[in-house]
Amino acid sequence: MKPVLVVGAGFAGAVHARVLAEAGVSVQVIDQRAHIAGNAFDYVDGNGVRVHAYGPHLFHTKNLRVAAWVKRFSAFVPYVHKVRARLPDGRTAPLPINLDTVNIVFGTRFETAAEVSAHLKAVSLPIPAPANAAEYLYANIGVTLTDLFFRPYTKKMWAMDLEEMAAAVVKRIPLRTGRGDGYFHDDEVQMMPLRGYTKLFEAMLDHPRIAVALETVFAKDMLADYRFCFNSMPIDSYFDFCLGELPYRSLKFHHETEAGVPGQGWSITNFTDAGPFTRETLWHVMPHHLERDVSRHTVTREEPCDYKDNGLERYYPVKTADGRFGRLYGAYRGLAAREAGICFIGRCGTYQYLDMDQVINQSLVSAERWLAGVT
Ligand code: UDP
Repeated sequence: MKPVLVVGAGFAGAVHARVLAEAGVSVQVIDQRAHIAGNAFDYVDGNGVRVHAYGPHLFHTKNLRVAAWVKRFSAFVPYVHKVRARLPDGRTAPLPINLDTVNIVFGTRFETAAEVSAHLKAVSLPIPAPANAAEYLYANIGVTLTDLFFRPYTKKMWAMDLEEMAAAVVKRIPLRTGRGDGYFHDDEVQMMPLRGYTKLFEAMLDHPRIAVALETVFAKDMLADYRFCFNSMPIDSYFDFCLGELPYRSLKFHHETEAGVPGQGWSITNFTDAGPFTRETLWHVMPHHLERDVSRHTVTREEPCDYKDNGLERYYPVKTADGRFGRLYGAYRGLAAREAGICFIGRCGTYQYLDMDQVINQSLVSAERWLAGVT
């Protein structure tokens, strides 16, 4: 029996490979990069600090099955991720917006969630059916908070105004009225792999029926050697962009070494200004990210850009309010439905803005359906 080909050694590919291998199927995984783990790849830098090469990956989920599955491949440690936004006067405030954020921005002294809710209601605009990110935010938190925390950041991140973006993009950030300041406060599982993501992937891919070939670019003529292909490459690229291009935002990472190891209680600071950077990460604040005793730390600042300005590194599918790229993806999906023996997976294969737990869940379901003969 021919093996199955899995294109991409990130979460989508590695989860498919593992599930298939455990069911007795031989799997060949290929990846064009020189490492496994996709965009979750991490390494320990010259400062002895664990750095996530493609930006911070924080594991959080409500899906207990996904949490239990991933824990088979690494010990995890609890980690409540916190983010603060730097205001124009240099102060910082909790994000997502909560009671303290409201007090800091408006100079109020609210003590209860009810007072904050009433305030937000008073400053919100009456927009019954918000049609884009701006309208959604104006209808829920009003102009001041929207224009401070979301407008410049979104412009930097997406090169689009809030009016052009789908509300779903900013709905990723919940709106809170209490004092809770965990970024993923609503998810009961918040944890990090004890020895990093790369080690987690090494364990996931360590199976006698899984072979991994790195620095190997997918080509259609490979398909003849395999009984099926799960493919996480960009779906538009597979079809030679015949219907047009699906855009992505990318990030350039600026790593700096700075003196000391600040005892700051949060790892990510978001910038509310209109400069080029969206946020900075102090890696050592994350658990077990300082591998050695050092007198310096690494800070990474993120500069968003078009993927074509960053070596075709595709990170974020673009979700506009008018749904135009969603429709283009739908057209590619129509082409894919006519191809036998291939299934597109992951962020680039399905053109979705997915978190790690969502990719793992979708991949578990997809591999199990294939094994059950449902394709
Ligand atoms: N966002 C913002 N200001 C912030 C944080 C987020 O305007 O300080 C908006 C922005 O459009 C961003 C989206 O909310 O792309 C989702 O933010 P999230 O933190 O989930 O982005 P990710 O961590 O996936 O890059």
